[in-house]
Amino acid sequence: MSGKLEGKVAVITGAASGIGAQTARLFASEGACVVIADMQVDKGQSVAEELGEAGIFHQVDVRSEEDIAAIMDTAMAEWGRLDILFNNAGFGGALGPIEAIKLEDYDLTFDVLVKSVFLGMKHAAPIMKQQNSGNIISTASVAGLMNGVSPHLYGVAKAAVIKLTETVSLELGEHNIRVNAICPGMVATPLVTGRLKPTEEDVAAIRDNAGKDTPLGRSGVPEDIAEAALFLASDASSYITGHALVVDGGITSGPSWPEWPEYMRSPLPLRMYRPEGA
Ligand code: NAD
Repeated sequence: MSGKLEGKVAVITGAASGIGAQTARLFASEGACVVIADMQVDKGQSVAEELGEAGIFHQVDVRSEEDIAAIMDTAMAEWGRLDILFNNAGFGGALGPIEAIKLEDYDLTFDVLVKSVFLGMKHAAPIMKQQNSGNIISTASVAGLMNGVSPHLYGVAKAAVIKLTETVSLELGEHNIRVNAICPGMVATPLVTGRLKPTEEDVAAIRDNAGKDTPLGRSGVPEDIAEAALFLASDASSYITGHALVVDGGITSGPSWPEWPEYMRSPLPLRMYRPEGA
């Protein structure tokens, strides 16, 4: 039985860790060959080694146009095609109140979170147009849809990723290229530990303790987002483009349902609307 991505070639940025690493594993298990693109060399190489012949590591800084062009070249040189680009690398961006954010941190935030996605789309598009097929997915966030869940610039940058996804999908649809985004909620990865050098225990602490107040009662794990990326990358979603797929355990629906207050447990209001004698 063939996998859902048999014969496909994918480039995944931020694939040394968290969501990107898990997506690389899942894509490879479904038959894809994957370029693991990341700035973390040791971790990136070790993910590529796990994939055997289906994985190759390419060191990249996603802020650099030269580097982004080079990862597409690697896919073409190794496997002769580029079917899927997953623009996923990211970080938490500038923290703090608006008056304290330095201009250089503003630039860094938008370079890593938005310029990288723009560059990925820019350099994948000509190859995919030539093939008359392709699939671009970018990791946005629920922070691009709702307020109060992230630092200022992170949310603005992720909103920009969603908007870019929509507008580019309009342009590339006629070339049989689909362009979608994923909006994760809280996912237990090194990114959300708030530590400079997060350990596996730090990530496990988030996985085991965070997210209890979400409707599904747990934090997300990288597998949740990898499965969404697989859906968007595969033919199962062949009529979906320009979409931002929310994978968040329900938090964008609002806070989880509170304890039922006494007046809502009472059947009295219903009785009041029943006809006489019913
Ligand atoms: P992570 O820290 O595990 O992985 C991020 C990866 O991106 C790392 O391997 C890092 O080296 C790489 N990276 C960062 N800057 C880079 C650069 N300039 N060049 C190359 N590689 C770079 O975190 P994650 O949670 O897996 O994050 C993946 C994506 O998911 C990010 O875009 C993040 O904003 C998004 N996201 C995460 C969450 C969450 O709760 N974890 C929620 C919403 C969205």
